[in-house]
Amino acid sequence: MIDAIGYAADNRHAMLKPQKFQCDEPGAHDVEIRILFCGVCHSDIHQVKNEWGNTVYPCMPGHEIVGHAVRIGASVTRIRVGDVVGVGCMIDSCRSCEACRAGAENYCLGPNSWLATYNGPMKPKSKAVTGENMYGRDNTFGGYSSAIVVREDFVLKIPAALKPEAAAPILCAGVTTYSPMKHWRVGAGSKVGILGFGGLGDMAAKLARAMGAHVTIFSRSREKIEEGARIGVDHVVIEGDDEKFARLAGTFDFILSTIPEKHDLNRFTPMLKWNGVLVVVGALEPMAPVNNMVVAAQRLSVAGSLIGSIAETQEVLDFCAEHGVAPDIEMIGIEEINHAFRRVEAGEVRFRYVIDMATLRDAG
Ligand code: ZN
Ligand code: ZN
Repeated sequence: MIDAIGYAADNRHAMLKPQKFQCDEPGAHDVEIRILFCGVCHSDIHQVKNEWGNTVYPCMPGHEIVGHAVRIGASVTRIRVGDVVGVGCMIDSCRSCEACRAGAENYCLGPNSWLATYNGPMKPKSKAVTGENMYGRDNTFGGYSSAIVVREDFVLKIPAALKPEAAAPILCAGVTTYSPMKHWRVGAGSKVGILGFGGLGDMAAKLARAMGAHVTIFSRSREKIEEGARIGVDHVVIEGDDEKFARLAGTFDFILSTIPEKHDLNRFTPMLKWNGVLVVVGALEPMAPVNNMVVAAQRLSVAGSLIGSIAETQEVLDFCAEHGVAPDIEMIGIEEINHAFRRVEAGEVRFRYVIDMATLRDAG
């Protein structure tokens, strides 16, 4: 067994605090990763606070993991010891359903769906036999920790052109916004609206710009106008500016909502052009009803999208390396994590927090 340490919460009201645990030694197909950096995603907070009702405690979050491959199993071919590698939201899937066979593990139709990097309560098959997953626990532990062992085919390669710490948010925020833009063919000249300008909105705006789109950000906060200009978006519209909203009617090909909680889509559907698409990636919960008079009248689509596949994750990493796209990040020590959670919840940060795992050494 590998001795490891990470930050976990014992219940939904608890702060994250240091906790020792053990990982299995890497099997033939596994890669042992010493974690260097881990991004802080809004879903880490939803999960720690049991806001989706499925959290198993202790809960050790973190699914934007970048580290060094320190040991590999005998059958591993793609990863070498010393490689800078990444792990995103998933570490396994059923591998046999229609979605998995099509390379869309993020939509796995297996009885247990895909195995989440943390709080993943099961591994298909072994769950039924032992009541535990392959990691020997009732739930998986994520990247707010020193080490993780993952099957090779769920390990991403971090291109040399990306700073390892900046690559971390691409593994969730990056692919979550890239996948729908690719699926709905955002490209040169597309008119794209992005709702919300936090970690996901930042990545979405930069990726859409790199794809050649004309980008407008919708934000609640005036301070973000300057931020938007700095990263090269074409317009920032402040929520509540009804005149501006009215002028934008019928102007967007594609709107991506990164707002992390339920919100009224009827404010935005009138801004779509004929055949336009509004995709919600931020809020995973029931939403207010959508007025189908507006949707039907212009054959609009209102859609959802969940993260992205492993292949798309590698693709967006390579795309970012090629186009010089990187998230705005702020590095923190692991001991600052509870404070960082509060700031993310308050919507006070536009950048992504990334934890420097070297600071874990002092926690043990
Ligand atoms: Zn995430
Ligand atoms: Zn599957």
